[in-house]
Amino acid sequence: MQAACRCRPASGSDIVAVTGPEIERLIALLAKLPGLGPRSARRAVLQLIKKKETLLVPLAAAMGDAAEKARICSTCGNVDTQDPCAICTDATRDPAVLCVVEEVGDLWALERAGAHKGRYHVLGGVLSALDGVGPDDLNIGKLVERLSSGEVKEIVLAMNATVDGQTTAHYITDRVSGLGIAVSRLAHGVPVGGELDYLDDGTLAAAMKSRRPF
Ligand code: ZN
Repeated sequence: MQAACRCRPASGSDIVAVTGPEIERLIALLAKLPGLGPRSARRAVLQLIKKKETLLVPLAAAMGDAAEKARICSTCGNVDTQDPCAICTDATRDPAVLCVVEEVGDLWALERAGAHKGRYHVLGGVLSALDGVGPDDLNIGKLVERLSSGEVKEIVLAMNATVDGQTTAHYITDRVSGLGIAVSRLAHGVPVGGELDYLDDGTLAAAMKSRRPF
């Protein structure tokens, strides 16, 4: 029986195998990453193979290490190589202020900015009626548990400025009312270095609404 020819991809299709199964498998896995479709994954894999010794081999080793050591912090939901994570165990951080974020990427962004010296809580998403995400699907129960310990005096709701983000912020505010904890949220408005003429109407309106004494 003649082996199927893999050199002639069907027109317009990205899933036809054009190379060996090991490489196709790598492409298929990379294509699952956010921001990478099948075409970008194919380009990335070509680049990796061209730079096999300086890129592909070290990357494979780094991924092996990460696969072995990465874990989710059982306290805050951060990703680290230890549980509890380095932020939760850092005694120099203010345990009284907890910043609540949607995803680990948001936590990392705030850390890069050096914007918060307290601890964090990662929800793992936002409430969304459209996507069928309810309170039980998020890390909210653990948040209420942490707040009940009495150590936290303030939570900063750092949700995205989206409808779902703000719905989630309101829900959390309701859930923690009565615990005697101050609730604040990130300011919405003019970005640093921003020019008014270039801002969208919603941002300008939010900035005007959130104005404060100068
Ligand atoms: Zn943690």
